[in-house]
Amino acid sequence: MTAVQDTRREAIALSVVVPIFNEEEVLPVLAERLRPVLDACGEPYEVLAVDDGSTDRTPPLLEDLHTVWPELRIVTLRRNSGHQAALTAGLHRARGAHVISMDADLQDPPEVIPDMLALARADGLDIVHGVRIDRSTDTGFKRRTASAYYWLMRRLAGTFVPAHAGDFRLLSRPVVETLKTLPDQQQIYRLLIPWLGFPSGQIAYRRGDRVAGTTKYPLRKMTLLAWDSITSFSAVPLRLSTVIGAFSLVVCLAFLVWTLVVYATGSTLPGWTSLIITVLFFGAVQLFCLGMLGEYVARIYTAVQARPTYCVARDTDEDQQ
Ligand code: UDP
Ligand code: MG
Repeated sequence: MTAVQDTRREAIALSVVVPIFNEEEVLPVLAERLRPVLDACGEPYEVLAVDDGSTDRTPPLLEDLHTVWPELRIVTLRRNSGHQAALTAGLHRARGAHVISMDADLQDPPEVIPDMLALARADGLDIVHGVRIDRSTDTGFKRRTASAYYWLMRRLAGTFVPAHAGDFRLLSRPVVETLKTLPDQQQIYRLLIPWLGFPSGQIAYRRGDRVAGTTKYPLRKMTLLAWDSITSFSAVPLRLSTVIGAFSLVVCLAFLVWTLVVYATGSTLPGWTSLIITVLFFGAVQLFCLGMLGEYVARIYTAVQARPTYCVARDTDEDQQ
């Protein structure tokens, strides 16, 4: 890295990380709304568009935007690695003194960015969470599942998790550097970042409609995120297996007493139904507990493999070197 680039690295006040996956309809509107807000801040900034292996017209559209918007930096991942991995790629490469992450679909309004920055500076905060006060534009199903998710996370992971704070947030350089020291596993940032314990604040905002295109978070990915969140922040499911095991032991003992009583009274033959029920019940309990254990073994397996969660094919900033 040359001295000139080094000074540029120091100079960037704000990086905006935007994970993008097949957002051809959204990109022009995103640039139209985001650029004036950032230009008006009057400070050097960069927008890190992380192309998460898009297969539509997103890559050429980004290239076009890059030619007219020098602050737009494109980081291309080799394949679709998921929203959180794309965020990781962006956070790892961002150079700003503050880093903001936001979705490409403008559900997180760019107009809130200057307020976040002002709040962080005024109150000396390292983290400013964007908290959704109004989710009326989300579907009823999404709202209900989201409420259940945050309720469960606050119960399992701890009350430090702010409710309805998604991935629209501001981080200071020290927070980003701390995140970079953590092992490169699939991170659940909305739980991990509050857990770090840096001074943090919140800014409420109205969550708008996705401006175009369709959600890239189908039910399957939402379920996966919820399950990952639980297993990465809580051993409660494992303990649940112990509780279920203890409960079945009690049931077992009761059955034992009952069997002995039936044996003593001499009527031991008609017992097929109870036998089948017992076999099925304990078979199910054992499989359930084994499965639970398996989930955690799988996490250990992934951690031991230590594969990177993303591979960068290209970073437009490195083109110029
Ligand atoms: N996204 C991504 N990789 C994926 C899925 C989504 O980078 O595999 C991006 C997507 O382009 C968007 C953000 O993550 O910028 C949030 O996705 P989306 O708006 O579809 O989620 P929702 O708001 O419906 O939960
Ligand atoms: Mg969205």
